Amino acid sequence: MTESPDPAGRRPGEETVTLGLGSNLGDRLASLRRGWAAVGALDGVRPLDCSGIWETAYVGPGGAQPPYLNACARIATVLAPRALLTALQRIERDCGRPPATHLRPRILDLDILLFGDRLVREPDLVIPHPRLRERAFVLEPLAELDPGLILPDSGLTVGAVRAIIRAAGGPPVRPLPGGTLAWDGNDG
Ligand code: ADP
Ligand code: MG
Repeated sequence: MTESPDPAGRRPGEETVTLGLGSNLGDRLASLRRGWAAVGALDGVRPLDCSGIWETAYVGPGGAQPPYLNACARIATVLAPRALLTALQRIERDCGRPPATHLRPRILDLDILLFGDRLVREPDLVIPHPRLRERAFVLEPLAELDPGLILPDSGLTVGAVRAIIRAAGGPPVRPLPGGTLAWDGNDG
């Protein structure tokens, strides 16, 4: 029996997940690339596409921090949300991030931004990521991937939310010239 192809190119049992990657400590670009390569090598994960790299000054709580590099990337996965979170946290540790660095500079931050159009509300796992809508450094790379993507908690598109955040001002977010998550400069 032949199955009709999914318009998004997914295989049976897979969902499309959007990840946020960040680093503001050490060799930031190398850490983002190492993290993305490790995500793509996970069992049950197929890397799909990735944004460019964006640089932004840190203006959050907890005092001064070095500037961040951020990117977004999409995977197709058969993993459940919690299994994916556990795998991402292991990669953060393997890349040298010690535990308990919340609101502190970090070598690698891997966040689940969107998991298909699921809504997850658990104490230690919230999807869509709760601060996605406030962060230009997430919305700019996310809009590179798909400005028409609908955020399932608000019904707004990524492009519409980005316009709101751009209009509000805030810390400048600029693309890193030539920045890419792929080691070889091609699509990751
Ligand atoms: P942040 O990414 O907000 O700067 P951390 O990386 O230190 O902070 O993560 C703190 C906690 O956030 C993690 O222990 C994790 O359980 C929780 N968390 C909740 N929702 C998510 C999500 N969608 N993606 C990643 N972590 C999440
Ligand atoms: Mg995180």
